[in-house]
Amino acid sequence: MSRFLIPKHRDLVPYTPGEQPRILNLIKLNTNESPYPPAPEVVQAAKEEAARLHLYPDPTCKGLCEEFAKVCGVDPDEVIAVNGSDEILNFAFMAFCDENTPAVFPDITYGFYSVFAELNGVPYEEIPLEADLTVDPAKYENINKTVFLANPNAPTGIPLTVAQIEKILQTNPDNVVLVDEAYVDFGAESCIPLIRKYDNLLVTQTFSKSRSLAGGRLGFGIGCKELIRDLNTVRYSTNPYNINRMTMGAGIATLKRNDITLANCKAIANTREETAKKLREMGFTLTDSAANFLFAKHPRADGGLLYRKLKERGILVRHFDKERIKQYNRITVGTPEQMKKLLEAIRQIMEEEL
Ligand code: PMP
Repeated sequence: MSRFLIPKHRDLVPYTPGEQPRILNLIKLNTNESPYPPAPEVVQAAKEEAARLHLYPDPTCKGLCEEFAKVCGVDPDEVIAVNGSDEILNFAFMAFCDENTPAVFPDITYGFYSVFAELNGVPYEEIPLEADLTVDPAKYENINKTVFLANPNAPTGIPLTVAQIEKILQTNPDNVVLVDEAYVDFGAESCIPLIRKYDNLLVTQTFSKSRSLAGGRLGFGIGCKELIRDLNTVRYSTNPYNINRMTMGAGIATLKRNDITLANCKAIANTREETAKKLREMGFTLTDSAANFLFAKHPRADGGLLYRKLKERGILVRHFDKERIKQYNRITVGTPEQMKKLLEAIRQIMEEEL
């Protein structure tokens, strides 16, 4: 720490991103990226924009927002484009939380919520998940705080229904309810159809998972026009050119081939169910994940040990040291071939080393 860091940041514990190692032939199942690369026309669009890198991108992201709005069935002024959905989470803390408007989220959820709360000096409450690792939606009703809910939740993959979230919206009319739909495309219900009914609903989505653009950094917020205007005020006050040209081109091309996204999501959901079935046959306990990852533990295998043994075999999964979930590993759903190798490695480890 330098002598210049201001006191309020001295205790800041930053978010720890998943490992991004450069190891040849690594089977990377640790950060929930898509195993399917972007379509050729998406790569082509990014290349064409690369030739114009001497010019600033469009700060209004007009074409991109129009295309996204079309796919979502909303108006362009009901969406905002952001540099990965992490950016809009920070914007939401900046715009909708302060010492008088604290935040609330589950104790086990996306780790960035508490980091953004700390960064922005926002008090927050963490509501423990139930014993079966589900979120009890009743605990968020009439809570009078800005609500942050990942749906499906991470790292459990367990979703709430839209009807359950609607009750949270109805009972907190004076607070924003942010529904983080990073993993919604793999089998949960989106709350986007509710944005005209509830002016306190902000939905966030990312192109990092279902849309094969984790490296491009693209996310969106969807909500009523007034909420989006507030978020744009924060965006223009921090980084008006938050979406670079190549990502803008790639994003538009991705949206024009929504058929590919839908097919990839279907394939990933199928692979998830097949892999879950095989893991259960091997004695693993799994949450009912609707996301592109599995959350699994085995009575005979310590979570951390299994993580390390898989890593020795060139397979990277995600292990969290948090007390309640340290027996688990979060495994991104890859291609069927990658899952076959994972299952073989686990079988070997279980038979030979545990
Ligand atoms: N929300 C959740 C629940 C996530 O797991 C992630 C990915 N780590 C994000 C948001 C952020 O994704 P990105 O910034 O890549 O859009």
